[in-house]
Amino acid sequence: MKKLAVLVLPVLLFGCKSSQQWEGQGPIQVVPTENKEIAIQEKETYSTPSGVSFSNDFEGARLNGVEQVNDSLFRVEILPENAPINPSPWYAFKLWSEQDKELWIEFTYGEIGFHRYYPKTSLDGVEYTLVDSADFKSDGPRSKTAMLKVEARKDTLWVAAQDLVGTRDVEEWKDKLAALDFVTTEVIGKSTEGRDLEVLKIGTADDKEMLMVISMQHPPEITGYLAMKAFVETIIEDSPEAEKFRSKHNLYLMPMMNPDGVANGHWRHNLGGVDTNRDWVNMNQPEVKALTQFMESKVEETGGKFIFAADFHSTWEDIFYTINEDLKGNRPGLIPKLIKRSSKRIPGYDPNIRPTESNQRSVTSNSYFFFVHGAESMTFEVGDNTPRDLIRQKGESTAIELMRILK
Ligand SMILES: [Zn+2]
Repeated sequence: MKKLAVLVLPVLLFGCKSSQQWEGQGPIQVVPTENKEIAIQEKETYSTPSGVSFSNDFEGARLNGVEQVNDSLFRVEILPENAPINPSPWYAFKLWSEQDKELWIEFTYGEIGFHRYYPKTSLDGVEYTLVDSADFKSDGPRSKTAMLKVEARKDTLWVAAQDLVGTRDVEEWKDKLAALDFVTTEVIGKSTEGRDLEVLKIGTADDKEMLMVISMQHPPEITGYLAMKAFVETIIEDSPEAEKFRSKHNLYLMPMMNPDGVANGHWRHNLGGVDTNRDWVNMNQPEVKALTQFMESKVEETGGKFIFAADFHSTWEDIFYTINEDLKGNRPGLIPKLIKRSSKRIPGYDPNIRPTESNQRSVTSNSYFFFVHGAESMTFEVGDNTPRDLIRQKGESTAIELMRILK
């Protein structure tokens, strides 16, 4: 039956409503993605009796309450935008003190959360460093609380779950790309809060064979974003190989899939309270609707096709989620070959590859890219704590090998 599904796939790529099923497949297990209510986080500066203040009054912050327990212990409450929710308990806040003071911060996550992200601090809100292990206590992964020791001073200290990549940082990076003569940008829609949903076109090719790359569907997933950046920065390099590649393939890039979620410091969802990576069959949410319409009109207008797609995420460890290898898209074998070759470039690195077991379309982007467009696709998951230099190497080597395979 697998073969049958494969054979009929190309016929159904055109003009088929994406919620349809085809021979050899059961019904798609759709999850509801209509808007759900979210709790809006109040922007607030919490002043405490001992002169220490905490604030969430900046973009990307998440802090829902502060309680001074004793002179040197402060309990912060971090809550999700709504529930149920995948446990990605993002936090980001700043603090300062009228007098220099060593203090402990106890993280709490309400009923459903737990501590996940190893804290980073920053003195300028731009460069973050991991806190010293002597200053951090938790009962291991998923412990209900965690304790962080900091030196509070008059100058602001930022504390965050990951390097804080706000929408503004992504804008700045996009502007740098857009200044290149082979990059153009297009606003393809608006988010619920009115932020631009933007796609960059990188390349000078015709659109016969297009590539699609996205990231930041899930706000805390900075390590995935960093891998995507390294990948793209290799494709835009000023080298004969990259230039040749760009003359043959256009890479379409949507680096910020969930700007509202990022701006609001969400754990997972967009402003509709929905996990956008469960909406790629229903297409109820503006972010997913805009990109799927963009891709489908691209194919319709140009007669070309998407041959490769990657969606960058973060999770507990590095994983490649791929499509069942029996299924053939527009470039059969591209993804396994790419992962194998790019991993070989990194000494001692053994990739964790998880192809889908069934030939069934699912609700994720990865599945949409393959089943609707025939694009060989993968979800590129980077561990929360994967060292930054390894992240860069992985992004770069994936781009280098992709350019070689597709040359
Ligand atoms: Zn994710």
